[in-house]
Amino acid sequence: MNIGIVGTGVMGLSTALACHQRGHKVTLYDQHPPLHTQGSSHGNSRIVRLDYPDPFYLEIMLQGYPLWKNINLLLQKPIFTESGIVTFGDPKTPDLQTLEQGLISNKIPYDRLDHTQTIFPALRLTENEIAIHNPVAGWANADLFRQSSTDFLLTHGHQRIQTHLPDPTLFKKDHDALILTLGAWSKQHLNLPVTINCQTFAYLRVPNPAEHTKVWIESSEHGIYGFPPESSSTDLIKFGVHSPGPEVDPANPIRPVSEEKIDLLRQFAQSKFNITNPELINPQSCLYTNTATTDFLWGEYSPGIFWASPCSGHGFKFGPWIGERLTDFAESKLHPSAYPRFCASQ
Ligand SMILES: Cc1cc2nc3c(=O)[nH]c(=O)nc-3n(C[C@H](O)[C@H](O)[C@H](O)COP(=O)(O)OP(=O)(O)OC[C@H]3O[C@@H](n4cnc5c(N)ncnc54)[C@H](O)[C@@H]3O)c2cc1C
Repeated sequence: MNIGIVGTGVMGLSTALACHQRGHKVTLYDQHPPLHTQGSSHGNSRIVRLDYPDPFYLEIMLQGYPLWKNINLLLQKPIFTESGIVTFGDPKTPDLQTLEQGLISNKIPYDRLDHTQTIFPALRLTENEIAIHNPVAGWANADLFRQSSTDFLLTHGHQRIQTHLPDPTLFKKDHDALILTLGAWSKQHLNLPVTINCQTFAYLRVPNPAEHTKVWIESSEHGIYGFPPESSSTDLIKFGVHSPGPEVDPANPIRPVSEEKIDLLRQFAQSKFNITNPELINPQSCLYTNTATTDFLWGEYSPGIFWASPCSGHGFKFGPWIGERLTDFAESKLHPSAYPRFCASQ
């Protein structure tokens, strides 16, 4: 088949790789160049984890997690690094409780630690906190993924056209199927009930980078999360805040950095990493496309045109799995309605 894909974030590129592996010819369209920073897929790291507080997503990640290892093999690059993940907080937090329950009911081995035990030396737990450590998790290098998958697709005879499509659906006539992965721009083009928020993250200089061995998430109202250093030659770790930042219009290229979130990050570095004067470097923003339930959305726009807007700040790890499903839709092997939870809010 000749398949058009509009949008070259993680969803569009993952779909293109799945199409390539099934023998289809792909044309990618995007309004911006391959490594742009206007959407949701830029930066050097994204959490990829098998465990999830919600059993529905855990079920999907049982299929989706191994696909990241296939991406490394296909692109011959270290895009996914399996470092393990530590989720910590008050054990009464509902998310932490359902996360642990999911691990138990799926017989996934994990460690449960208290403040006297060490698995992630840089992190200081308080007496009333616990940490769940799952070694089957890690992080994906988002920019390396975007660059290497684009290079791979172009060297294998597919096309990328940089153009802004005022009505992306008009391109159906040139293709057997059209897939729209427009990220935050889905709100306008597909009239979705979503909110676009600007999410702040920054890099923190840490005194002992070798102690930052794990991806981590604080199970709390703000959901602060972070990563090990990207390589052994840097003393910077990336960390960010998951709770919604200011609402923005994706058409406006200004991406505000929230001072309030930067303060939260600074306080976190002091209390959890014991850094007296935290040095925050290169604060920046990225877009979340939030639904009220934080569920992803997808659907069939018209015959042969399918779309997906999986974000709400947790979509990246599902990219390869969603790419496979969007390719199933294009091939008429599956219909979006097979997953009613993703069609619920349309
Ligand atoms: C700071 C931050 C941290 C995150 N952390 C994690 C994490 O740790 N783990 C995780 O799983 N997820 C995480 N996420 C969420 C994840 O990154 C997103 O779900 C994912 O990147 C969304 O990808 P996308 O392809 O749907 O959108 P995008 O990457 O925004 O891609 C959409 C593309 O469509 C193009 N486009 C739109 N309209 C048009 C048009 N009319 N014509 C041409 N081109 C068009 C845009 O230019 C853009 O390139 C995070 C997100 C942010 C912002």
